[in-house]
Amino acid sequence: PPTIGVLALQGDVREHLVALAEADALARPVRRPEELAEVDGLVLPGGESTTISKLATLFGVMEPLRDRIRNGLPVYGTCAGMIMLADKILDGRDDQDTFGGIDMIVRRNAFGRQNESFETAVEVEGVEGGPVQGVFIRAPWVESTGSGVATLARLDDGTVVAVRQGNLLATSFHPELTGDHRVHRYFVDMVRAAG
Ligand code: GLN
Repeated sequence: PPTIGVLALQGDVREHLVALAEADALARPVRRPEELAEVDGLVLPGGESTTISKLATLFGVMEPLRDRIRNGLPVYGTCAGMIMLADKILDGRDDQDTFGGIDMIVRRNAFGRQNESFETAVEVEGVEGGPVQGVFIRAPWVESTGSGVATLARLDDGTVVAVRQGNLLATSFHPELTGDHRVHRYFVDMVRAAG
């Protein structure tokens, strides 16, 4: 099975490690460049993107990860992880940096106060067996995408909440919190196909 890391600087790392293991990957936390070098794929967890950005620089993984993304490393970002994969963000902090890689503009905390957290069924293209339960927690949405980006899921009002560009996958929501690991399986298959 492929070895898939979870960037373990901040956020819901443990839930992703469990989900990946149950989706038949060898899952391990990644904090340092040496650990990053050993994985076939990487998950960027949900959490707080400003903190993840700061710690990525501090731990010396910002540039190495950007390099690996450019070289085709499969990466899946959930929520804050989606923000970290965006080439451009709105409502970010001034000093907030992303790894980038997906040609999209993502708006942080996009759903606003009334909707800070909610759950709804989401149909994801390429994920068989009916909709997944979308858990949204102070989630971002995708405001616009470049021509190389495939939209995999929208809410009923058209809001884009899942995208893929090549080996990069991002969702506004948190499949790792649901016990339904079909999206993680989809990602593990992406990693297998890339390897
Ligand atoms: N609001 C957080 C951020 O801006 C993301 C929240 C999450 O990952 N659940 O990074």
